[in-house]
Amino acid sequence: HAKREGRNNAQFFMQALNDAACERLLLERQLRKALANEEFVLYYQPQVDAGSGSIIGLEALIRWQSPELGFVPPGSFIPFAEESGQITLIDEWVVHAACRQLAAWLAQGITPPRVAVNLSGCHFLKKSLVEMVSECLQNFGLEGRHLEVELTEGVIMRDVEQATATLAELKRMGVTVSIDDFGTGYSSLSYLRRFPIDTLKIDRSFITGVTRDPDGAAITTAIISMATSMRLEIVAEGVETAEQMSFLLEHGCSVMQGYLFCRPAPPEEITRLLVEGLAMP
Ligand code: C2E
Ligand code: MG
Ligand code: MG
Ligand code: MG
Repeated sequence: HAKREGRNNAQFFMQALNDAACERLLLERQLRKALANEEFVLYYQPQVDAGSGSIIGLEALIRWQSPELGFVPPGSFIPFAEESGQITLIDEWVVHAACRQLAAWLAQGITPPRVAVNLSGCHFLKKSLVEMVSECLQNFGLEGRHLEVELTEGVIMRDVEQATATLAELKRMGVTVSIDDFGTGYSSLSYLRRFPIDTLKIDRSFITGVTRDPDGAAITTAIISMATSMRLEIVAEGVETAEQMSFLLEHGCSVMQGYLFCRPAPPEEITRLLVEGLAMP
């Protein structure tokens, strides 16, 4: 009896494995099609100086509008694309689309703020990255300062030698670098001194707790004071309430990104904001 059950379990397991493999193949094919058919779009979310109300940056956030699957949020296909290796092509598309948009704004006589793109670790650590970015900038007649690259903490530590070379090249081109989700990684802080990093983005999980949970508040103020004394820029991620905004302003962090100011929005809407300015909460 036990033996038969064992075999059934094994059969069930193989079936599940097959289903998963099929699903992965299907998703892989759909992502390939998405790239070919331009099913991706970039939304942009303003980074606002809450002191003055001016937009000092835009974060580009990918959106996938699939005819078969509907709206697929990045959290459910980026990790898969990283595993399947398709992330390199997707990130390339993102850099290209962001540059194309920057060039379009400049052509309309709008002075755009810097645009930050999220680069996945496996892509950032490829030797070809610098060339891809510099070609894209050149093709659209842009300067390095128009672009910012967002990385997470772990990426740099995964291959310190390659990261050092890439960061130096980006710096030389004038592309700025920010550390995304800062405070959630497990890396040592010493890398902040060793690498040419421009901005720390305080993770949303700390900002959420800032007015309710003493630990969130303590971590946030510690990051702000460390970044300030190291002359790093700070962006607070995921600011949703006026209380969080006041807390951050009181503690010396004025640049914020979050639903309180603006949700990620399509380019047309951002164009309007760049022309008319942002209505402050
Ligand atoms: P992230 O880079 O940390 O981006 C911030 C995320 O927080 C975005 O989610 C944004 O929509 C969301 N957000 C912004 N303000 C608020 C707020 O006030 N409240 C809340 N609850 N959320 C807020 P999104 O667009 O779903 O992206 C999720 C993650 O997917 C990103 O996290 C990033 O890691 C990744 N991602 C997005 N676009 C790209 C891309 O083009 N390339 C790569 N490699 N990864 C991307
Ligand atoms: Mg980001
Ligand atoms: Mg982030
Ligand atoms: Mg985040």
